[in-house]
Amino acid sequence: MPIVRMAPSPTGNLHIGTARTTLFNYLFAKKTGGYFILRIEDTDTERSTKEYENNILNGLKWLGLEYNELHRQSERTSTYVSYVRKMLHDGSAYISKEEPKEEGKRSEVIRFKNPNKKIVFKDLIRGEVEFDTTDLGDFVIAKSVEEPLYHLAAVVDDHEMKITHVIRGEDHISNTPRQILIQEAIGAERPIYAHIPLIFDKERKKLSKRKHGSAVWIDTYKEEGYLPEAVLNYFALLGWNPGTEQEIFTLKELTEVFSMEGVQKSPAIFDIEKLKWINKEHLKKMDPNDLRIVVEEKVKEKFPNAIIGDDLLRITLERIYTFSDIDKMLSEGEFDFYFSEPELLKDKLIWKESTPKDTKKHLEKISEFLLDAPQNTEAIKSILMPYAEEVGKGNVLWPLRYALSGKEKSPDPFSLIAILGIDKSQARIKRAIELLS
Ligand code: GLU
Repeated sequence: MPIVRMAPSPTGNLHIGTARTTLFNYLFAKKTGGYFILRIEDTDTERSTKEYENNILNGLKWLGLEYNELHRQSERTSTYVSYVRKMLHDGSAYISKEEPKEEGKRSEVIRFKNPNKKIVFKDLIRGEVEFDTTDLGDFVIAKSVEEPLYHLAAVVDDHEMKITHVIRGEDHISNTPRQILIQEAIGAERPIYAHIPLIFDKERKKLSKRKHGSAVWIDTYKEEGYLPEAVLNYFALLGWNPGTEQEIFTLKELTEVFSMEGVQKSPAIFDIEKLKWINKEHLKKMDPNDLRIVVEEKVKEKFPNAIIGDDLLRITLERIYTFSDIDKMLSEGEFDFYFSEPELLKDKLIWKESTPKDTKKHLEKISEFLLDAPQNTEAIKSILMPYAEEVGKGNVLWPLRYALSGKEKSPDPFSLIAILGIDKSQARIKRAIELLS
């Protein structure tokens, strides 16, 4: 059975790249009927914190990436100690006296006795990779017997946890020869490697906190109201190609179609517009009632009595990419005219070359047409459109839309009438007529 692991270091918040690599491990495990271990690599006690660990765990939970087991390296010190002792005993490691950092202090580290050889390993994505380890020297594997460093702890754990496939970011490819040397020294089996391409920005620069700020953190996407499933869908496409035209996947679907053969060698380019598009596609697939609950909850913060009917739900969905766009719409007044009377300015009612007299006539006509109209966008459109086309669309639809919304930009007047209801629409049209009289 394939056993994979994701091994984040809790030295920062959950990063996009970490989440993407976790997803690939998760998908690989699901697809192959394997087992997925999450291993918190917190041996760097100076930089690791519980807050970061919680941020990582909560972020993975929000995304819905479940694992079978959780381990913390800080709880496994005794295991590493026994390996370090063994290595010191058999000569594959030695205590090395270092130049003391502080005057008068003795300083020692544990170094690996590098056999200086050529290492060739097969990578599922990059093919055969060759390294000459001579340049690496006798690298440090522990600060002391009780303080193992990353390479040693990772190799011991991969061995003890019987990891079959190491799926990780390509930035680790240069660590692989060191880790293979340690594996050989402790008699561990070599796992299969898959180094997945890094995520770059549009200028082909690595995504980093320094350059891209909070955009590299998963929390940002949660706060901006992205759907976790849409985020996962997009992450899957960062470095993987399904080999078909399909771009929208649920997590379940991804577990069925994912394969390492579809992972590319070249870097993945992060494109926020694409993520937004994918999020919208997932919003469209949401159960309308679930969607209504979210929209209504947000709108009620400003308009406590708001009810979101089908038409308003449709119009809202047309205008948003993420849920935080609803907050933007609210603050820009894009919901105001549904729930409170708009203020109208006479001049604004008149379309281009039209006149107050003609505008008034058109609105009166519309009012008549609406007398026995049903509250349905398409029906309203088919009742009003022939007249608008006959006398000039702008001459009729502009004042109608403005009378209903008091805004120069708003959804089409047919939807507005359906949302407001015939009576309220008639009242607003009447007010506009009075203004023109
Ligand atoms: N703790 C390492 C990191 O966060 C893990 C690398 C690995 O997967 O081996 O970069």
